[in-house]
Amino acid sequence: LRVEASIAGGSREQEACAVFVFHDITELRRLEKIRKDFVANVSHELRTPLTSIKGYVEALLDGGKDEPATATAFLEIIMRQSNRLNLILDDLLQLSQIESGQVLFRREPVDLRALLERTVAVIKPLADKKHHTIELSLPDEYWVVEGDEERLVQVFINLLENAVKYTPDQGRISMAIRNATHMRAATPRPMIEIVVADSGIGIPEADRPRVFERFYRVDKARSRELGGTGLGLAIVKHIVEAHSGQVWVEGNTPRGSRFVVHLPVAQDSSTAVSTETGSR
Ligand code: ADP
Repeated sequence: LRVEASIAGGSREQEACAVFVFHDITELRRLEKIRKDFVANVSHELRTPLTSIKGYVEALLDGGKDEPATATAFLEIIMRQSNRLNLILDDLLQLSQIESGQVLFRREPVDLRALLERTVAVIKPLADKKHHTIELSLPDEYWVVEGDEERLVQVFINLLENAVKYTPDQGRISMAIRNATHMRAATPRPMIEIVVADSGIGIPEADRPRVFERFYRVDKARSRELGGTGLGLAIVKHIVEAHSGQVWVEGNTPRGSRFVVHLPVAQDSSTAVSTETGSR
């Protein structure tokens, strides 16, 4: 707490009065720390691929370029690391645009079933490569969410991509929708729940709330190896919250993770919601 005091005196009756101004700087300090940590994290994240690129360029100049097989191998690494730099910068740019309110979210009725079918189609080839099965359970009703279709697609692509990445080969991934209105008595609006579950490595309980922070990773080395930037879930959280929703992660049984997204359903699909009985 910082206290500023000034003494004003000298009125005709020679009275003096003191003015105290109290500033709570704890919040300012916290924000400053977040900013500093962020800059340090960004620098570190960018330095890792850059150091690798520099090392391989030096090795090429030192004679590696004269051996075609070595040169090709080194150039491939340089290409991969450049792609990684691009990916980090794309995610960072997107996150900073969303956070600074520069991104205007569209407000249009979005058919959630069609949207989830689309995201599964995008992820299927990745899942096939690791021989995962993807199961999509959709009820017959239409669910309309008021929002930005492309951003919402990104939410579920990020969650499914993680499920594919953090599940060893031949795993099971599922995405299901159900009515969540009855789970949230305090919420006057109908809610829909979308769960993305996997049979993968899971997330220790202590790390679960933190995985939505920028650059927080349970296992940095593993995330990098799998091509992660540590920003995917931070983007997910921002988009979901911009749609007045919530997202969190739970443990799956017997193993793996369950990412749960709650989104308010548009008024015009409320009839469909109220006739849904909540079965999966
Ligand atoms: P990354 O690019 O590292 O995957 P994310 O922000 O998407 O970054 O996720 C943050 C961290 O949360 C990951 O590094 C990983 O440790 C953990 N994580 C995310 N999804 C899963 C999942 N489905 N299973 C296990 N761990 C996960």
